[in-house]
Amino acid sequence: MNGQPSLEEIFGSYMPYKVTDDTWIISFMNGTEYMYLLEGDEKALLIDTGYGAGNLKNFVMSLTDKPIVVVNTHYHPDHSAGNGEFEEVMVSAGWEIDSPSVDMPGHIPFDISKLPHPDYKKKIIGEGDVIDLGNRKICVMDAKPAHCNSGLFFYDESRSMVFVGDEVEAAQVNMFDNSCNPKASYNVKDRLDCMKANCERIKSFHPKYIFPNHNGTPIASGYLDDFIALVDSIYAGTATIEDKLNHKYIEMDPKAPTLCRVREGRASIFIKKDLVLSVYGKKERR
Ligand SMILES: [Zn+2]
Repeated sequence: MNGQPSLEEIFGSYMPYKVTDDTWIISFMNGTEYMYLLEGDEKALLIDTGYGAGNLKNFVMSLTDKPIVVVNTHYHPDHSAGNGEFEEVMVSAGWEIDSPSVDMPGHIPFDISKLPHPDYKKKIIGEGDVIDLGNRKICVMDAKPAHCNSGLFFYDESRSMVFVGDEVEAAQVNMFDNSCNPKASYNVKDRLDCMKANCERIKSFHPKYIFPNHNGTPIASGYLDDFIALVDSIYAGTATIEDKLNHKYIEMDPKAPTLCRVREGRASIFIKKDLVLSVYGKKERR
């Protein structure tokens, strides 16, 4: 013991609490990131698997005695590196595009090839699929590619809940390419349009609860309006562009000098400055 926290203590310390009697928020990374556990009469659905610290499955089994099924909001390292603790995980078909962000050796703090099921089965799910937990049905929707290429939304109509991954959040959404895949396509206008369409779709459900995976949960539905307005204000040339990111970890990323923060109301994104300037003030033409 040298007084420093271990990697497992940093990335694998979980704090659970209930937002309803059958819905757990599993908070980690000092309360800045979340997984979710949804219990039905027959099964429990774990949404996301964290960084791969290796201690998640036992922890989740301490919360529920139901068989656990597992899904990823998207295939990024802080959401799916722990998949290998489980025999099967449901993922979007887009996982392959975002795969290098998780599977590139040395890209995450843990050696995930040492997890119990490094060759776990990926079950592809998407738009229109329903995960039936027993008296609790979770509808699966494809998120349009904005933050990532592998996003799924989960809608629990019975409890008026939508789980939105990293596509909407209270602090800022990362809108630069995070896939680590040189073959991934990235068109800034498409990404912004998809962000707006995703928010409009989530809004159409009038959810009581919107559950992002970072920086505060649940969040008010008014954030959706602000993200919609953010996209419009970029095209209108009225959004605020700030060079100072004010984010300790993103500022450590080699990409940081190319990024800026763009704000409108409570909505904020990190995006490549040259790309956002290429559409800034260029009103949408249809
Ligand atoms: Zn992400």
